[in-house]
Amino acid sequence: MLRIVTDFDGPVIDVSQRYYLVYQLCLKKTCRPQQKVKELSFSEFWDLKRSHIPEKQIGILSGLEDTQAEAFAKLRKQTVHTHPYFQYDALKPGAVNALLKVKQAGCDLLVMTMRRVSELNYAFEKYNLSRFFPEDRRYCLSDDYVKTQDIDDKPLLMEKALSELPPATDTWMIGDTEADIAAAKKHGIKVIAIESGIRNRTQLERYQPNYYLPSLLDAVNFILNNSDASLNSNWLLEKYSQLSNQKTPSIDYQKLISSKK
Ligand SMILES: [Mg+2]
Repeated sequence: MLRIVTDFDGPVIDVSQRYYLVYQLCLKKTCRPQQKVKELSFSEFWDLKRSHIPEKQIGILSGLEDTQAEAFAKLRKQTVHTHPYFQYDALKPGAVNALLKVKQAGCDLLVMTMRRVSELNYAFEKYNLSRFFPEDRRYCLSDDYVKTQDIDDKPLLMEKALSELPPATDTWMIGDTEADIAAAKKHGIKVIAIESGIRNRTQLERYQPNYYLPSLLDAVNFILNNSDASLNSNWLLEKYSQLSNQKTPSIDYQKLISSKK
């Protein structure tokens, strides 16, 4: 059995507009009424996030003083993952197609996210995503979980999944941050880093995932074409008989036979 574990924010959901809106709001709330600040453009802001620049630094780059930038970072942390703002998230293009493809291939599909249950349920209902993930295939945080850091919390979620689920022949993780890469590598799982999420290529390279691909759909296509488990499964052999050497000789071999006639 082939198992695919996917992160949620990044591969499936685009959080960039929510993050930018909360940035604008926190900047306004932190500066004094007449204070001149420099609100970053969306692309300036998102480039900084993708470069993993700390929130306080983003505040300073926006013209806040040191103590203001600290208050800004704190306010942002308290605000960004709260319910009024999840409505600004968007579904990533191609994400539903990718999930359909995984299901059609008969893979075991899990979601593994630092979202809390209620935050995950909100998006599942809004985008009709529950159909892809039965309840025992949703690994997220409880609503009262006290977070430490994603890079520490996510490997714990992976550990929980591996201890609860039946063993798989081949397991792959897909994610867009260092936390996904760390969670997979700690448990010897192959990991594909998605480059269209909240970290740029330079940041991802620091954690050395096995592969880099642009999107969830690219990652799914890659796994289905390269996993030993999927190459051995019947549905693929029926669909692509050339995968079995016994069934159909390769094109070059056929040419060789015809040239000898
Ligand atoms: Mg993510």
